[in-house]
Amino acid sequence: MPLSPTEEIKERLDIADVVRDYVKLEKAGANLRAICPFHSERSPSFFVSPVRQTWHCFGGCGEGGDIFTFIMKIEGVEFRDALHMLAERAGVQLPSRGPEVERTESQRKRLSDLVELASQFFEKQLASSEDALLYLASRKVSKEGIAKWRIGYAPLAKRALLDFLLTRGFTEREAMSAGLGVRTEQGVLDRFRGRIIFPVCDTQSRVLGFGGRLLREAEGMAKYLNCPNTILYDKSRALYGLDKAKVAIRRQDALVLVEGYMDVILVFESGFENVVASSGTALTPSQLRILKRYTDNLILAFDMDTAGDTATRRGIDLALEQGFHVKVVEMPKGTDPADVASSSSEEWGERVKTASSILAFYLSSALSRFDKNSPEGKGKIAGEVLGSVKLIPNRIEQAYWVREIAKVLDVSESVVHEELLSIKVQSESAPAFSVPQSSPKLSRRELLEEKVLGALMISPETLGDITDEVIECFSLSTQEILEGMRKSASLDPSDLSGVLSEQAASRLSRLSLQFEVEMEGAEKATEEFASCVRELFRMHARERLDTIAKEIKKAEDEKDEEGLAHLVSEFQVLSRKLHF
Ligand code: ZN
Repeated sequence: MPLSPTEEIKERLDIADVVRDYVKLEKAGANLRAICPFHSERSPSFFVSPVRQTWHCFGGCGEGGDIFTFIMKIEGVEFRDALHMLAERAGVQLPSRGPEVERTESQRKRLSDLVELASQFFEKQLASSEDALLYLASRKVSKEGIAKWRIGYAPLAKRALLDFLLTRGFTEREAMSAGLGVRTEQGVLDRFRGRIIFPVCDTQSRVLGFGGRLLREAEGMAKYLNCPNTILYDKSRALYGLDKAKVAIRRQDALVLVEGYMDVILVFESGFENVVASSGTALTPSQLRILKRYTDNLILAFDMDTAGDTATRRGIDLALEQGFHVKVVEMPKGTDPADVASSSSEEWGERVKTASSILAFYLSSALSRFDKNSPEGKGKIAGEVLGSVKLIPNRIEQAYWVREIAKVLDVSESVVHEELLSIKVQSESAPAFSVPQSSPKLSRRELLEEKVLGALMISPETLGDITDEVIECFSLSTQEILEGMRKSASLDPSDLSGVLSEQAASRLSRLSLQFEVEMEGAEKATEEFASCVRELFRMHARERLDTIAKEIKKAEDEKDEEGLAHLVSEFQVLSRKLHF
């Protein structure tokens, strides 16, 4: 039977190589260890097993899985996309998906090549444009920063890029559908002229489109200009900098959202890497859905006036509704994050750390505009803030804000609460997201059983010690796994896959890695196996003795001589074993 694409990918790629692209791995016995990219920690509890091709975090987040789940989680993509990414890397051909899909795919590929080439062109132009380099230096963008962000320059000439693209076999029509050409009375011309160019990329750092800032501001010319939406570049989804920020966002479980390209670059350069910008300050449902894969904590660093305007507020309300915790960074008047971060990274860090809840911001903004001592003012203030409070899915948080508002306005909580209930919400957002569940605490018995399974995986020869008598001591679900192992006389996951459910198989692979990490070495595993089995046996025997004692009493009452003799002898055998 030929291998499926997923099997072939797993065979061709080493999980350690793939993970190494995102985190720094160090050796730890037979495994590799790193600081977990999915939660914040100081000492490494994220492990990769090259033998089993699995990974698992034994720290706070408890995540784990195979090469596909790793890419899904770290890239924030669906299985399909993870499959495509890994197939490309492994050189595995995926089955085609119909002529229609194929055509769009090849169109996308063609445009993708075009914008990549354009990006290289702009980068090259920058290298020879003294003015543009001087401007970037004056904004304190380093040479490394220019290279990292692939900042470019579009010369003033009317068709510099277009003519270059034509020599490389692209057409004017293609340049236009990539958003790089505009039709005028003089024919098709370059869209970007005399501008610093910022390529906007997807989460895998592939260029999708561009934004451009005028090098020399001139009347009648927009300071900022973006590509229009194309089949590659969808502004309602694009998030500038996410490709570079994603690991830091995960690790810090928070994201700082700024307004401009320069804000992203300079904040990132100052050492705070969890920063992205949306195209325009109003967050869209698509952007929020993407961000939700990385974190629930949004920290906005907008101009204070912008933070209050209607479009921005709609985006923020959408975020609150979807369970994001939204905070606002207080910025000195007339400055942007780029200024603050590039002049003092300490100050920037402090401002982010002390960011306050968006609701506190709304409340203080309303308080500054209305008189909280007049009945009318109280109504206006409550009205402004409660609309957002209503959207928060968490009732406890809602109650907190109801209390705060009541306190500030000096009215009773019940009045504010009533007011809250009377507000009708018009939902604009997509259905709510599922909330990940943390694994429940294990009982002593479950813990022992897990340890036995882990030890078995590490030293398979102990399988011979799993006798019928031993199996009886385990819970039914574990008995099933043990029976499966005995039946196939193997502990190789690929042999077991026919016998065990997928869930049981992945549970086993997680346990063995965990056990390996805790034990280091097969000798200890055998020891641990024996002691866990002993304890489980004792647990089981004690339970059985309890039951027998009850049955003996019953047999005595019923004067069942034969049954009684049987039970008493079983009791004696068992208690002798127990005290041995
Ligand atoms: Zn973790």
